[in-house]
Amino acid sequence: MLQLDHVEVCYGAFKALKDVSMTVGQGELVVLLGANGAGKTTLFNAISGLIKPSAGDITVEGQSLTGAKPSAVVSAGVVQCPEGRKLFPQMSVMQNLLLGAYVHRRDKAGIQQKLREVLELFPILEDKKDQPAGSLSGGQQQMVAIGRALMGRPRLLLLDEPSLGLAPLVVKQVFETISRINRQGTSVLLAEQNAFAALKIAHRAYVIEGGRLVMEGDQAAMLGNEDVRKAYIGA
Ligand code: ATP
Repeated sequence: MLQLDHVEVCYGAFKALKDVSMTVGQGELVVLLGANGAGKTTLFNAISGLIKPSAGDITVEGQSLTGAKPSAVVSAGVVQCPEGRKLFPQMSVMQNLLLGAYVHRRDKAGIQQKLREVLELFPILEDKKDQPAGSLSGGQQQMVAIGRALMGRPRLLLLDEPSLGLAPLVVKQVFETISRINRQGTSVLLAEQNAFAALKIAHRAYVIEGGRLVMEGDQAAMLGNEDVRKAYIGA
């Protein structure tokens, strides 16, 4: 589905990603673990076309997307749900959701179908659809952010810290929803601080430190790894 080969990203003289090679297979849910500043958002932005890599290749379903515009990346089936949600708070929930379908704007029937699917996944958003997105609770706003990404019809969904700042019960619901989206066929790359909950729904994971991938393993190997437990999970 997604392949990165020797990707490097620089902010001026600072190298934020160094020789990053990784894959996300068709139907896989892959977690990216890393501390603050390790380079997770930079990696997502490079895939999404928001930052241009200074070296390396990014391929999606065999098509090179290195340096492609964000709209071309969305058209290729890769949609990012950004850290901090980045909703338009004064606009209604419905308007926020429809913005996610912008690249498909000529396919009115397809948009209505996708909207039905999103409201089925998040029924509460039906009741809130005319309210300003900024008036919703944190968990509901995260639903809008994920829903807006789904409106872009991803075959690969990039989720950057979706549980950040949410109450524990809501975090649980967010992870259940991500798992469900994945089981329905969407590949997922998930960056998370909440390592244990993320690994529980993952097939595989990578660890990023200082812009470099330092570890990779399947769910069982990562959950059983002493270094991963110490650094990211705790007791
Ligand atoms: P967080 O979870 O805190 O967002 P992260 O793992 O997503 O962390 P990045 O935001 O990708 O990390 O940052 C990686 C490194 O690049 C950090 O050292 C950060 O300070 C630096 N960085 C990020 N954006 C820029 C920028 N626009 N200009 C210069 N340096 C940047």
